[in-house]
This record gives sequence, structure tokens and C-alpha cells, in this order.
Amino acid sequence: MKFQIISGICDGCTRVRYSSASWYLIEADARIGGMPDRNCRFCNTKLSVTFADLGMSPPSNSYLKPDQLNGMERFYPLHARVCEACKLVQLEEFESPAEIFSEYAYFSSFSASWLKHAERYVEMMIGRFDFDARSQVVEIASNDGYLLQYFKQRGVPVLGVEPAANVAKVALEERRIPSLVEFFGVQTAKNMVADGTGADLLLGNNVLAHVPDINDFVAGMKILLKPDGIITMEFPHLLRLIEQNQFDTIYHEHFSYLSFLTVERIFAHAGLKLFDVEELPTHGGSLRIFAAHAESNRPVEKRVEMMRLLERQFGLESIETYRVFHESVRETKRAFLEFLIQAKRRGSRIAAYGAAAKGNTLLNYCGVRDDFIDYVVDKNPYKQNSFLPGVHLPIYGPEKLAETQPDYVLILPWNIQDEVMEQMSLIRSWGGKFVVAIPKVQVLP
Ligand SMILES: [Zn+2]
Repeated sequence: MKFQIISGICDGCTRVRYSSASWYLIEADARIGGMPDRNCRFCNTKLSVTFADLGMSPPSNSYLKPDQLNGMERFYPLHARVCEACKLVQLEEFESPAEIFSEYAYFSSFSASWLKHAERYVEMMIGRFDFDARSQVVEIASNDGYLLQYFKQRGVPVLGVEPAANVAKVALEERRIPSLVEFFGVQTAKNMVADGTGADLLLGNNVLAHVPDINDFVAGMKILLKPDGIITMEFPHLLRLIEQNQFDTIYHEHFSYLSFLTVERIFAHAGLKLFDVEELPTHGGSLRIFAAHAESNRPVEKRVEMMRLLERQFGLESIETYRVFHESVRETKRAFLEFLIQAKRRGSRIAAYGAAAKGNTLLNYCGVRDDFIDYVVDKNPYKQNSFLPGVHLPIYGPEKLAETQPDYVLILPWNIQDEVMEQMSLIRSWGGKFVVAIPKVQVLP
């Protein structure tokens, strides 16, 4: 039996108090017929409802070099479940975060639109909350300093917390952004406070969904936040994932799939309240939440109640919504394969654009290899001349498209679909067409 400590009470005691209002009954032994424990990482309720079962898949960023093609590859189940009690959609943890993130291949600064997004955020925050030279901004998962550089330019003191040492080094050497090379949680927060650090603004973009121990992470934020401090977090919105059929955003590094209502529960458990929320177009539809200490007298904006209402009306509090999604994922696979089979029978040649995690999920789930798609192109030189994990499609630079003139170019990162269609418009000169598989299979006009 696995013991998990929540609020100081072992789950062997059968009752765990996790917020002032609710008591949850936890069964003493969560094993069913020898299966491993699968309990909610937030509220410890047993998980029994499937949200999306994408079979066995390799870690999505484990691109292969040519000399690795004959070696063994690690495959793990990609099976998202939803907690019936708190509605947290989640994956199990298979690899330690240290393995995934210690040499992370993705550098945020590679995307021009993401940099603009960061710059606009900094302007908005300084305008709304008056951060200045006396404030301390701390970013969790600060990457190469892509965002903190804009606070620094405006004279606001910054500190990054970034577990990938190679990425933190770039932040320091190229942007002079100091970074602590650590995973964030209660222990890191306590060490920082002991060293005299407290946050007036504590921010994290696309990190909340990536932490395996979400309770420890949020409790750490509570510790580091100054009494009048503000937290902002951005994460892909579960409502948009379901609505737009974005099941290809499910991958192993992405442990949680979050709604506003569930995040509000998780923050309340840690003594934090959400006082505002914005909807953002990034990553197919994200939320930016604003949080403060529960005891702070910061007024709660109207948008908070509107977001709760939106999610309830959409059905996010009903378990049936999650069950229905599972079947729509399976149907997308059938339709995608149907398109590919017909195109190949007509003798068409198909290439793909964007060697991103999304593509790895989709292609591995559907079992699409070079029997359907010849290769993938990507602008990022770190990915070129390697192979997608699992399906082993080769990755080239975008110039390969003009050389081989394929009939179809499948855009894997649908979130930058317009950008790709504009940049790669030359494929139309030989009659090439763009295709996407998400939200549904579509040849684009
Ligand atoms: Zn739960």
C-alpha cells in the first residue's frame, strides 16, 4: 500500500481533510486485483474514468539520431483519466522530472510570436500593478529568460527558477538573467525565503500542467509569495481541449489538464484565491489566472464568476462530458487514417510540417509511419537530421518541401496553422495542399 501524506494525515487513516469545506473518504487500500494504485494527484480519490487512451507512446521530445534507430526505445502508456471528485484530468508519472527536464531541447526564444506574447504580458502587468525597482519578480520555469528580459529592461529585479541547467546557462550568459537551477516546490520555496527572497510577482507559463506533484508546487508558491504579492499562471484550457478535440496535446510531460474550477480547488486547498482570469489564444486556447493569498482583501473580478458559469454550462462538472470525449478521439483516428489511405491509393505524396510534441502524439497514436508520410520538416536546427520517436520519420529543414514537391503538407502544430500556411505558401505553386487532422481532418482551402 502506498502512503501519501496530505495535510499531515496519512491516507491509511481513511479520512483526509483537504479544505475547510470538504472531507473526502479515501479507501485504505487502493489496489484492485493487483493493479498499481491510480489515485488523483490532487485529492487522492481512486481514478476509474478514462478521458483519452492513446495507447503506448514514446516520450514526445526524445528525438532520435541516426545511430539510435536500431536501439530500443522507451514506450509508456498515454492514458489520461479524470477524477470523478475534483475533475482533474491527469496522466500517471512514469519518468522522473529530472530525466525529462535536465537537458530540455526546447528554447522558448525560438518562436517570434511567443516573444511578443511575453512582451505584451510584461507591459500589461507593469501598467496594472505598478511593479518597479523595489519589486521582485520570480518566474518558475523561466527557460532562457525569454520573458524576464522584458521586466529587466524596465528596471524591475528578476529571478528565474529553471530546472534545465543548459537552458538556465543561456539565460545568464546571453541575457544576464540570474536563475536558480532547481525544481520548484515547498523545499525550494523555503530555501529561497531563508535566503531573503520573496515574490511580489510570481509567474509561471505552461508549468502548472507539467508538475507531477501539483500540491507541493502550489504550496511552494504560497510560501514564496509576499503578503500582498500576486501570482499569474498560464495553462492550456481543458474546455478548449475538449471543444476543439485537441487530444494531441496529451503527452507524458504534461501531467495535468486543467479547468478553471479545478485549479480554483487546488489553489484554495493551498490557501490561495483566484481573483481574476483572462482567456488567451495561445496553445489553442489558454487561461491566465491571477491569484493572491486567501486572506488578502484584493477584490474578486466579475470575470471569475463568468468563467465558473461558462465551465459549468459546458459540462465540465459532469463526468459524462469526459466519457464522450474518449469516443470522439477514437473517431478522429479512424477519419485521419481514412484520409491517408485514400490519398496514398490515389498515388499522392504526403509530407508533414512541424516536429513538435503534438505531432508525436498524433502519429504514434494512429500508427502513421513512412507508409503514409515521407518526412517532417522543422525550422529548428536542433531537430533537423534526427528522427521522430516511435514512428521514425526523418526531420529535414523546410527547404526539403521545394525539392520534393509533395501533394499534401500535413500541419502538425495546428496552433500556428496560419503562420505556417503563410510561410510555406510556395507549395501552392506546384499544386500542393495543406491538411490538418485536428479538430477534424480537413484539406485547407
Ligand atoms: Zn481528484
